[in-house]
This record gives sequence, structure tokens and C-alpha cells, in this order.
Amino acid sequence: MNVNCPTCNKQIEWSNAHSRPFCSERCQLIDLGKWSGEEHRIPGTTQTHPDEEADIHHR
Ligand SMILES: [Zn+2]
Repeated sequence: MNVNCPTCNKQIEWSNAHSRPFCSERCQLIDLGKWSGEEHRIPGTTQTHPDEEADIHHR
């Protein structure tokens, strides 16, 4: 059975995937970082950078 890694979309053998559904621990960590850092911000756990956000709005 083959599955696609949610992070890099690489096709992997399910039974060989140690960090399934991810192809590797690295992809798992990337996805976790995405979850907590970008898509689902939890107040108090992520640091925001007001200066950087202001800079984006200026462009
Ligand atoms: Zn991957």
C-alpha cells in the first residue's frame, strides 16, 4: 500500500513509513510546525513580529 506524504507529496510504502503518514520525521516536524505556526495560531504560543507584518502591509 502506497500513500503520499502530506508534506512533500512523495509516494511512500505505508508499512515502511516510520513517521506515517509522513515519509520521514523531518516532514512530520515540518507539518507540525505549519499547524502551530501558520494555519492554526494559538495565542501565547507563537511569537509574532509586528514590525515584519507592518512591513508587509506597506508593500
Ligand atoms: Zn515527506
